[in-house]
Amino acid sequence: MRVAIIGAGYVGLVTGVGLSKHGNEVTLVDIDEQRVKMINQAKPPFYEEGLEPLLQNSVGGNLRATSDIKEATIGADVIFLCVQTSCQSDGTIDLVHVEQATTDIGKAFKDREGHPLIVVKSTVVPGTTEKVVCPLLEVNSSNRPGRDFGITVNPEFLREGKAIEDFLHPDRIVIGELNKESGDVLSELYRDFDAPILRVDLKTAEMIKYASNVFLAAKISLINEIGNICKRLGIDVYRVAEGIGFDPRISPYFLNAGLGFGGSCLPKDIKAIVVVAKGLGYQASLLESVIRINEEQPLKLIELAEKRVGDLTARKTTVLGLSFKPGTDDVREAPSLKVITELLERGALVTVYDPIAMEKVRGIFKDKIDYATSAEEAVSEAELVFIVTEWDEFKNPNLYQGKKVFDGRRILSSDEAERLDYEGICW
Ligand code: NAD
Repeated sequence: MRVAIIGAGYVGLVTGVGLSKHGNEVTLVDIDEQRVKMINQAKPPFYEEGLEPLLQNSVGGNLRATSDIKEATIGADVIFLCVQTSCQSDGTIDLVHVEQATTDIGKAFKDREGHPLIVVKSTVVPGTTEKVVCPLLEVNSSNRPGRDFGITVNPEFLREGKAIEDFLHPDRIVIGELNKESGDVLSELYRDFDAPILRVDLKTAEMIKYASNVFLAAKISLINEIGNICKRLGIDVYRVAEGIGFDPRISPYFLNAGLGFGGSCLPKDIKAIVVVAKGLGYQASLLESVIRINEEQPLKLIELAEKRVGDLTARKTTVLGLSFKPGTDDVREAPSLKVITELLERGALVTVYDPIAMEKVRGIFKDKIDYATSAEEAVSEAELVFIVTEWDEFKNPNLYQGKKVFDGRRILSSDEAERLDYEGICW
């Protein structure tokens, strides 16, 4: 099929290379000219495992990028909406990019022939496709949803760091459809994917995405809360997690107690659904606690250090790991940002190191902190070391000889930790 993808970020670009691998003709559209240029040169604009070789295989063949939405959508059978949805300061979903891109799509296919399918892949709160996307498309294209164009919601569940693998081998494909014809087109596009397809209505599909993220976030905050209790009792929460993970109703995944979740999705999605609930007269108390526990967790690492050494003013500290998780250079809502901010507020001297996310953090903290070129260099002068992201290269106990280590991710075993001046956040 001919596919246009609006928004060539993590989701859009990965969807693009994935669908081109399946033989579709893909055109990516982005307002960021630099990004368009890089994609056309087969250079990934961000780090994602396996992305570069796939891009090199498809650019010059059946994948290209442009900033001209009209040209990209005019002959497309399927148009994916993959732009970002951030949140406002009170947690409300920010639809500014979705509204702009939807307006552009509507205008672009105003005069076209045929019956395109619009696919909302951006994460939007339940009701958005029906109440915002459809009317905007209708007004700007003078076409009727269902009659002149199809519409579906197709939430994305990929994990950054494993995005290509997850897109190509999803555990399920959710299709929210305005009508059967719309869902049939998307089902056909995913024909070769080996995954169960669940077909539901538009707002159910939107809610499935939120419920998935909320569930994962709640599981993390829950094990962190248990970890905080374990810490006070002198119990290793990782042994507790092992013990409960055998139960198939619980499962062993997402039980890594520590600094909590970050990234571009979980924090904003939980906040957005809490706001939606509030607007409906329902207070989502459990979800509010999930957010609160997560926001407090990074501060606990600093408290541990203060308890151990007292005032942090002018102390030489190092933060190891900046991306919100290993395998990505994404630092959006990363716990590292909170840890660094808190250390600076307390007057500590901060050096940081991450294998791939340095430039993004340099853009945020500029010359307020020092940037090392290796873990060894970062640690060499430091008195206090904070382990914030569990990159493999930090799992070396020799790095930490003679240092006071505060581990937010449990990267060292109990045996290794025993020989060091070491403390874990929840163990
Ligand atoms: P992103 O910020 O990486 O990429 C969005 C891209 O859209 C940017 O390149 C931006 O320049 C472009 N864009 C914005 N407005 C545009 C317009 N009018 N026309 C063309 N391009 C435009 O975002 P992302 O991380 O890929 O997330 C996209 C959506 O998918 C969000 O709703 C997010 O919640 C959801 N999601 C993200 C992930 C993830 O792991 N990143 C996973 C599942 C779902």
